Formats: sequence, structure tokens, C-alpha cells
Amino acid sequence: MIRTQLLDLGSAWAAKRWIRRQGLACVVDDQGFVVIAWNAFRARRTMAIDRSEGNHTRALGLALGYPRCCCREAAKRGDGQLDQWAATYSRSRPSGFSRMLDPAGYADGKSMLSHIPCGPRCTRSLQMARLVVRARHQLRTSKVKKGKVLDGRVRCHPLSQ
Ligand SMILES: [Zn+2]
Repeated sequence: MIRTQLLDLGSAWAAKRWIRRQGLACVVDDQGFVVIAWNAFRARRTMAIDRSEGNHTRALGLALGYPRCCCREAAKRGDGQLDQWAATYSRSRPSGFSRMLDPAGYADGKSMLSHIPCGPRCTRSLQMARLVVRARHQLRTSKVKKGKVLDGRVRCHPLSQ
């Protein structure tokens, strides 16, 4: 499950078509937020949570598949404080394996994880970060070459380290 935002609302139709061609379901709202999931029910349900009134930080995190412990910590802060929490966490300069959990770049969507870990020793977050590292390695060594144009519109750029 992925939640992101389109930079160009005019590309919503093409993006939806490309995502569906990959065998995935997606929902796009009027502000360009996109939820991509394995099935339409989960995509619609997650978008409904995201658009709901009130504090839905925990429910949205759980719907996106984030660890329960991290969702609980995020809910204590609420949506409005997440960027600040990520910045504070990152300034604590995590070391060792915990560096994989550093949410530096969280606000820009550039951190290793899509969520802010509840702490530097969150085992669930570490497991997720290791999967990302493995996926990056597989992408680098796959047959999809850097800059290859997929479907005439989307360029695939293997993530840099
Ligand atoms: Zn956690």
C-alpha cells in the first residue's frame, strides 16, 4: 500500500491507467493524493480514512501497514506534528543499524521508511528498512536499466544509496 501525491493533477488519468496496467488498484482525490493498493477495496478504504475528519493518524498508519508501535507513537503527536517529530528524531543522529531508521527527508518523501519509527530500536521498522535495502539491491541488479522509459511516460530510476 502506497500513499503519495501527484505533482501534476493533469497527469492523474495517465497515472491511474499506468498503475492499473501493473495489476494494482488506485484512488486519486481532487487534491492529487493517490493511494495504490493490491485491491480497490483497500485503496478506497485507506483514502476514506485519510479524508475523514478528526485525528486519524493511527488508523491511517495501520491501513498503510506501518507497525502498531509506530502508529501508536505517531497518534500521540497527530498529523500536524509528524514533520517536526521526524526532524527532532533525525537530529538525535541515530547510529549503527538505527541509521536505517533515520527519518531525515521524511517531509520530502526521501527517507528509507514511509513512516517515522517509534524509536531507534523498533524491530518492526528495522525489518522494513532491511526489506527496502534488499529491494534497492535487487533493483540495481535487475534488467531494468537506469533511465529506461516504461510505458512511454514513466522513467525508472534505480534508487541511489
Ligand atoms: Zn515501532
